[in-house]
Amino acid sequence: MERKNDTIAAISTPIGVGGIGIVRLSGPEALACADKVFEPFKEGRPSFYESHTVHYGRIKDPSSGKMIDEVLLTVMRSPATYTSEDIVEVSCHGGRACLKKVLEVVLSSGARLAEPGEFTKRAFLSGRIDLTQAEAVLEVILAETDKAQRIALDHLEGSFSVKIRLLREEVIDILSSAELAIDFSSEDVEFTSLEKMLGRVKELQKRIRKILSTADKGIMLKEGASIVICGKPNVGKSSLMNSLLRHERVIVTPVAGTTRDVIEESINIAGVKVRLSDTAGIIETSDSVEKEGIKRSKEKLQRADLVIFVLDSSVPFSSKDKEIYERLEGKKSIAVANKSDLASRIDYEKVKETLGTDDVINISALKSEGLEKLEDRVAKELFSGAVPETDQTLVTSARHKECLASALQSLERVLNLKKKEINAELLSSDLTEAAHQLGLIIGESIQDDVLDRIFSNFCIGK
Ligand code: GDP
Repeated sequence: MERKNDTIAAISTPIGVGGIGIVRLSGPEALACADKVFEPFKEGRPSFYESHTVHYGRIKDPSSGKMIDEVLLTVMRSPATYTSEDIVEVSCHGGRACLKKVLEVVLSSGARLAEPGEFTKRAFLSGRIDLTQAEAVLEVILAETDKAQRIALDHLEGSFSVKIRLLREEVIDILSSAELAIDFSSEDVEFTSLEKMLGRVKELQKRIRKILSTADKGIMLKEGASIVICGKPNVGKSSLMNSLLRHERVIVTPVAGTTRDVIEESINIAGVKVRLSDTAGIIETSDSVEKEGIKRSKEKLQRADLVIFVLDSSVPFSSKDKEIYERLEGKKSIAVANKSDLASRIDYEKVKETLGTDDVINISALKSEGLEKLEDRVAKELFSGAVPETDQTLVTSARHKECLASALQSLERVLNLKKKEINAELLSSDLTEAAHQLGLIIGESIQDDVLDRIFSNFCIGK
């Protein structure tokens, strides 16, 4: 793996106005760069400062001698730093112009602008953290709910990597004992050792399956579950969405890129991020302008983890309701009868029979009644009862899930080999592949392009 040896710099705090902002430098020339632009109020210069000390002074433009800002400069020397390299952090005033100017003079003093995620990539390449931990840095930064943040911290501390590492070691161990069990010269396989080895492969599969079984919930906890609200016009879909938003803490409003036809908002249900969309456009229409909206609504529906199907309890159940329900095509759904504050004209038995459900939840979006019950049902449907405990190690990334599934498949191939077909070559190629897939998770045997893809999800300065 290529390890760059130059010095990088970037603004490490978010864009926007803040009290302070930080420009971070990392690399062998970090202290030399700081020497050129930092003027301390007391004596000394950065390259002579002790590690992990903070100094008050000014940043100036070395070409003009002009003062840029009053700052605190933190010096952290290799190897006990985030990247394992020398790091200098300049804490200046948080305005955009200020940060930009400080970054500019730092860049003109010999540093290069960091690529997205490059600080964390360096931490990984120096061996200080493994790949799951590097990915967890991003998870911690992006976590929007307590649960997501706790899981990310758990990953950062490395408990997930330890599990994967142990699995990988076991594969390699089986591989070496398999090679011993097979007598290459006579092509004769010692039966008992072979049986024992296959038993170990089965055991290993069980362990991988157990970890893999946490993936769907884990990914949902991290990324948020997607819920679509649908039903006939005027049943109260947008009213329900609004009352859920008022009832629960809104995380993001509105989500970037939402269109008029699919409105999406994120809320927190039972500590889990839930993205709610109201897909008014799911109704058939002859209006060609609406067609694009309908297409998007349908896509949204396809990707949804759960549908809230809304009925109006103040009018009888109609064929139009049924038609829309049929369009859900077997998606996991909750039936809700809205407007419970009005006199009921809906035949619940007929609804239950037609929809094939045994529960219709009564709510009033207008009066915010029945929402707790609805939320309990949402949590139950999404997490089949309990929201997963956060002290359980969960798979939260699609990449990890893929690698685990491929490892499992390779092991399956080993078990599917007919006894008499078993030879060293076949065994070792499948077991090596399993080890390789597990290695990809923690960043061993990983290729540059995969790595670049992972780190490019970071923003500059991380
Ligand atoms: P949508 O077309 O399904 O999004 O429906 P809206 O949310 O726009 O609601 C349609 C009409 O029903 C509006 O006049 C709402 O005020 C009314 N409405 C929605 N929910 C309730 C409710 O719980 N009780 C009553 N009485 N009216 C409601």
